[in-house]
Amino acid sequence: MGRLVPDPTAAPATTWQSATVERVAVETYRAKTFTLRLAEPSPFRAGQHYDVRLTAPDGYQAQRSYSIASAPDDFGRIDLTVELIPDGEVSPYFHEVVEPGDLLEVRGPIGGPFTWTPDLAGPLLLLAGGSGIVPLKSILMHRGLASPDTPALLLYSARGPEDIIYRKFLDSAGRRNPSVAVRCALTRRQPPGWIGYDRRVDPAMLRECIDELMTMHGNDSVPLSYACGPTGFVEAAADALLSIGVDEATIRTERFGPTQ
Ligand SMILES: Cc1cc2nc3c(=O)[nH]c(=O)nc-3n(C[C@H](O)[C@H](O)[C@H](O)COP(=O)(O)OP(=O)(O)OC[C@H]3O[C@@H](n4cnc5c(N)ncnc54)[C@H](O)[C@@H]3O)c2cc1C
Repeated sequence: MGRLVPDPTAAPATTWQSATVERVAVETYRAKTFTLRLAEPSPFRAGQHYDVRLTAPDGYQAQRSYSIASAPDDFGRIDLTVELIPDGEVSPYFHEVVEPGDLLEVRGPIGGPFTWTPDLAGPLLLLAGGSGIVPLKSILMHRGLASPDTPALLLYSARGPEDIIYRKFLDSAGRRNPSVAVRCALTRRQPPGWIGYDRRVDPAMLRECIDELMTMHGNDSVPLSYACGPTGFVEAAADALLSIGVDEATIRTERFGPTQ
């Protein structure tokens, strides 16, 4: 655990800096987490991301954004979780080449609206599609450390059980704390005896989640909603929230790319 005060000498978010890969952890058959030690750390907010730039020997460069998976409380280190897009340019490099000890070029932290700080309180309705779970894990972890009484319900939509990223973390987050509920929608493959949702996010599902969150919370405060994942998921989730009367001003979204 490190300091949280802003460091005036820290590199601005627009400056590229080097980061050392300290650890690589396999999350699923197509997601790995890379722990990076930053050369010039800056404080960040849960929900922000870093840009990563790769440079080929001939000078060709490719740049992509990756959300921070870890909590802001671990100063100087960030976790990035990268899902493999098999025909992609950057994510296969992470999966096939990057290993502990490597240096990467990064800049950040970046991102404003899709962030959560304890002063925003809650309750929190967190909606994740696929790798959209990444920044929501950071928000959940920070909530647990800085504001453990803030109620949160995470609804995670994945294709099948083998696609669930951070399974251990999510299992224990939901079990340990009465203020946190984790619900899962498996849209394509459900294990025998599955009692979670077996369909894509829709208005009825979100109504149930909000009702559950309000029951946990015990009062009428309007939840803050964060939806993150592939463009199609985020649009469906935001439309569903609006269709059941959720105020647009309480919905924050982050789109990672094409529809799943
Ligand atoms: C703010 C922000 C935060 C992000 N955070 C994360 C993160 O935490 N983890 C993570 O894995 N990704 C994240 N992404 C997506 C990431 O930036 C890349 O787009 C992704 O890794 C694909 O890059 P690539 O070079 O491998 O594929 P590309 O070469 O860019 O694309 C190859 C093919 O895959 C398709 N494709 C591209 N992106 C996706 C996608 N996300 N889903 C499905 N198909 C896709 C393209 O249309 C193309 O057909 C984030 C994106 C944004 C904008």
